[in-house]
Amino acid sequence: VYDAETIRGNARALRDAFVPRFPRLKLRYALKANTNVAIVRLILGEGLLPEVVSEGEIRAAFRAGAKGSDVLFTSSSKSPSEIDFALGHDVVLNVDNLDELGQASRAATALGTTARVSFRLNPGVDPDTLHQINTGIPESKFGVHLDGGDARRAYEAAVALPGISVAGVHCHIGSQITDPAGYEETARKMLAFVRELKRDLGLTLSFVDLGGGLGIPFSDGQAVMGADDLARALKPIWDEEVALLGYEPELWVEPGRFLVAQAGVMVARVNSVKTTPLKTF
Ligand SMILES: *Cc1c(COP(=O)(O)O)cnc(C)c1O
Repeated sequence: VYDAETIRGNARALRDAFVPRFPRLKLRYALKANTNVAIVRLILGEGLLPEVVSEGEIRAAFRAGAKGSDVLFTSSSKSPSEIDFALGHDVVLNVDNLDELGQASRAATALGTTARVSFRLNPGVDPDTLHQINTGIPESKFGVHLDGGDARRAYEAAVALPGISVAGVHCHIGSQITDPAGYEETARKMLAFVRELKRDLGLTLSFVDLGGGLGIPFSDGQAVMGADDLARALKPIWDEEVALLGYEPELWVEPGRFLVAQAGVMVARVNSVKTTPLKTF
């Protein structure tokens, strides 16, 4: 059972933290945290937009009232039919690798449309969370490496390909992150790269997506970073970099678990009690 007021409260905490500080902003909900359409509808009703990892999640977002151009489609692997479906609905494709970029270009050309794309970049930052949910470190499978020139080459390729319109940059460094330090390092690296894209390729982007991953407490009294702590930590870095950049892209943030993980309880009933020599079930 999920509590709507808790979810709304979390959405408002996110908005209260980010909206006053970042005039150009989109807050997203990563549907993989909970794809129940009633919950997605409730969160969209709070002004968030969907971030999805599959055609099924795009469809869930549509059932919850989203339109295609509001959806960001990230995943490390998209099937040809998912790419066609996304392009047919004007969904923003968050491309994971150069192979996928070529597929998107060919699909868009065949459909007579233009794919709005970003790349998921791997910023090479360790946010100090569990290794298994650490997605922005060099050995992770996700995204194009920022260090070493791969990201730069990916954008050069995107600019040159037919059917592709470059819209932004994206990263997501992990889940259950309880300290802003990893985000700060990530924001600096991402925004320095956005400056490089403008200086060397003449690219101005509509958005910079810094991912989700905001942690939640697992025990009473556990201190974790709140949305306000994160927004406060990012603000001076963002302002400084935007001044250097000479234009202000939209900041996108896309938490999942932060919105729903503390809103659920499991309701059950004990049918019978069994005592064994070792345990009581
Ligand atoms: C899982 C995921 C998120 C959300 O992560 P949370 O830990 O639930 O906040 C955001 N963006 C991407 C790309 C993801 O894979």
